[in-house]
Amino acid sequence: MRPENALSESIFECTQCGECCTGYGGTYITDEDVRRIADFVGLSREAFLSTYCQIADGGMPVIAVGDGGKCVFFKENCSIHPVKPRMCRAWPFIDAVVKSPSNWELMAGACPGIRVGAPLSHVQKVVKEEMAKLDAARGEAGSVSPHLQGAKKG
Ligand code: SF4
Ligand code: SF4
Repeated sequence: MRPENALSESIFECTQCGECCTGYGGTYITDEDVRRIADFVGLSREAFLSTYCQIADGGMPVIAVGDGGKCVFFKENCSIHPVKPRMCRAWPFIDAVVKSPSNWELMAGACPGIRVGAPLSHVQKVVKEEMAKLDAARGEAGSVSPHLQGAKKG
C-alpha cells in the first residue's frame, strides 16, 4: 500500500491484506491529512470531519470505521490512496522502531508484510531512512502517535 524500493523491500513488502485498515481508532490524522483528504473527497474541512471522522480518546480525530469493521475508506483497497493519511503512508516505518528496534518483531505479528530476520540495526537504519523520505516527500515533519497494538496502518 506504499511505494517500495529495494532497501525497504529487504524488510517489508505489503501483501495488501487490509488487516491494518481494520478496527476502530487506529488511523489518526494530522491537520495536513484533513486538508488533503477533504479536498480529495470534495468536502469542506468541517464536513469531512463530521462525515468521515470520529474523535478518539485524547481529542484527536481518527478516520471512522465503516461497514465490516474496516476503515470507512477501505473498499477493495484504500479508496483515498493518493492522499491517505500520513500514518497509513508511513507504516511500518515509524518512530517506535527507531527508538526500540525490537518493536519490529512485535509489529510483524500483526502485519504479514513485515519481514523479520534481518539484523535490528539494519531495520533501524532502513526505518530511519524511510521516515526521512516520507517527511521530505510530504513536507510535513513530525508524526502522529503510532499504534503498536494490532497493525493499525497500511
Ligand atoms: S497489515 Fe501490513 S501487509 Fe497487510 S495491508 Fe497492512 S501494511 Fe500491508
Ligand atoms: S490505508 Fe486507506 S483504507 Fe486503510 S486505514 Fe488508511 S485511509 Fe483507511
